[in-house]
Amino acid sequence: MTILTASDAHIRQAADSLRNGGLVAFPTETVYGLGANACDEHAVANIYAAKNRPQFNPLISHYASSEAVFADIDSNPTARMLASHFWPGPMTLVLDRPTDCQISTLASAGQNSVAVRVPAHRIALKLLSACGFPVVAPSANPSGKISPSCAEHVARAMADKIDIILDGGWCERGLESTVIDCRDEDHIMLLRPGPVTKSEIEAIIERPVILPAHDSNMPASPGQLASHYAPDARLIMDVTTPPDGAVYISFGVAKTDNPLNLSLSETGNLHEAAANLFNCLHQADATGCDLIAVSPIPQTGLGRAINDRLKRAAAPR
Ligand code: AMP
Ligand code: MG
Repeated sequence: MTILTASDAHIRQAADSLRNGGLVAFPTETVYGLGANACDEHAVANIYAAKNRPQFNPLISHYASSEAVFADIDSNPTARMLASHFWPGPMTLVLDRPTDCQISTLASAGQNSVAVRVPAHRIALKLLSACGFPVVAPSANPSGKISPSCAEHVARAMADKIDIILDGGWCERGLESTVIDCRDEDHIMLLRPGPVTKSEIEAIIERPVILPAHDSNMPASPGQLASHYAPDARLIMDVTTPPDGAVYISFGVAKTDNPLNLSLSETGNLHEAAANLFNCLHQADATGCDLIAVSPIPQTGLGRAINDRLKRAAAPR
């Protein structure tokens, strides 16, 4: 890992690292983000591994401008209005995920939505412009630890996990972005309170913002999300010999010619398995099968998040 001052040359170096699948910590106006190319499933899998997250909660994709966001993701007038008032800034919009979306399925945690933001930080914006692709950037700290507001915090907690830290001094706000679900214009929802307040939003859209029923972080909360992660077919775990007619999602064995056999990772690589997880589940479902059987996955590293997700998919509905 290297700590680099945020010169133009170093920003280009950081963008190249991201383009090649590297992890780069950089300052935003909220906290230091741990960046990865949002369109690279493997790089996104590495984010979950580096943060040691036991679950795949969805990540926010950062863009250099509103124009860049809406060029990728079709949206509604309310979302555009909020964007024109609060971007660049500490507001995240949750929008429908387009069918041809370039953003990794892992960043959406398998859901049909994407979360997007344009940060108001000179260095972050320069980096995003140099990239030309969206960058996921959860806070650059291990899961459950305090968010970092300077390069030194990041280095202390994450040194062995990341490639570059762009040092941009202290982050001003230290508070994570407000998250607004904008998918339904008649039900604009505040998913996470933050620096942009409910009343500021209501003043712009001229109607009330709805609070989720019980949990400020509703869509990320496991119970609420169970159905989003569930394939149509029934799913069973820890299967070594699949029943006839089931789609078998294997791990750590060579893939057979059987079209009903999909593989998370032939070599038993958990990063690769994480990167393939949601696509495998979608592919399995697309066959129209009644049953999906999944190999045992070791309960270590990214295996914990994979098992967590499979367990939800296997839960009775
Ligand atoms: P952060 O930890 O700042 O990167 O923020 C991630 C948070 O953004 C998640 O925990 C969710 O609360 C929210 N989020 C990201 N993507 C989505 C999404 N597709 N749907 C709903 N909330 C999302
Ligand atoms: Mg965080």
